[in-house]
Amino acid sequence: MTAEIRLFPCLTDNFGYLIHDPATKATASIDAPEAGPIIQALEREGWTLTDILITHHHGDHVGGVAELKQKYKCRVVAPHDKAAKIANVDLRAAQGDVIKVGGLLARVLETPGHTLDHVSYVFDSEKALFAADTLFSIGCGRVFEGTYPMMWDSLLKLRVLPDDFKLYCGHEYTASNIKFALTVEPDNAALKARAEEVTRLRSENKPTIPTLLGDEKKANVFLRADEPSVAASVRMKGQSAADVFGELRERKNKS
Ligand SMILES: [Zn+2]
Repeated sequence: MTAEIRLFPCLTDNFGYLIHDPATKATASIDAPEAGPIIQALEREGWTLTDILITHHHGDHVGGVAELKQKYKCRVVAPHDKAAKIANVDLRAAQGDVIKVGGLLARVLETPGHTLDHVSYVFDSEKALFAADTLFSIGCGRVFEGTYPMMWDSLLKLRVLPDDFKLYCGHEYTASNIKFALTVEPDNAALKARAEEVTRLRSENKPTIPTLLGDEKKANVFLRADEPSVAASVRMKGQSAADVFGELRERKNKS
């Protein structure tokens, strides 16, 4: 039996995610922006929370952990963070670790840049990537703690995943990301198609997530910093992909 995945809004523009293994009844929350909507989603489905898989220490990803842990006595998995910014942790996750959620397996990829502790979780057999604030649809996270080359390397770690994997990211930022991406690649057909799709989804008040990684590779300018045409459009022909990526990120910050 394949896993069931639910997504729902939390806080202002965060996504809450539950992944459920019907065979063992195990259920994990990917991050915990706030307890309320996660508890409601669990009760709607009749599921019990067994695990929380945390991606990074930001408050809008861990704010609900203490309340959920107290209510469900669930296990909390979180990245190694030297500053011990994440509390209530039972298991530390590092690159290459495989975390069991009942019968489901989550592979840990360290994807630093947005924060130094950021990890992404890949459920290979479910073809699902939970990338939180490293990779958004048509965008990527702000580089708060790491460097641009570090963040670019993290994006490359995600870009090698197969095209038919679904991206589940941390925020509903797609429309604003598209607005920026079109300033760099106004003639990108895949981007224009995604723009039309997102306009329709938002007008119907539907989430723009999940999205296919294969489509992101064609339309997400931040995954395309090593395309000569992208470098040319920001007047950086011949410069390194990490430098082009840094320029794109700077421009997005100011947009
Ligand atoms: Zn964050």
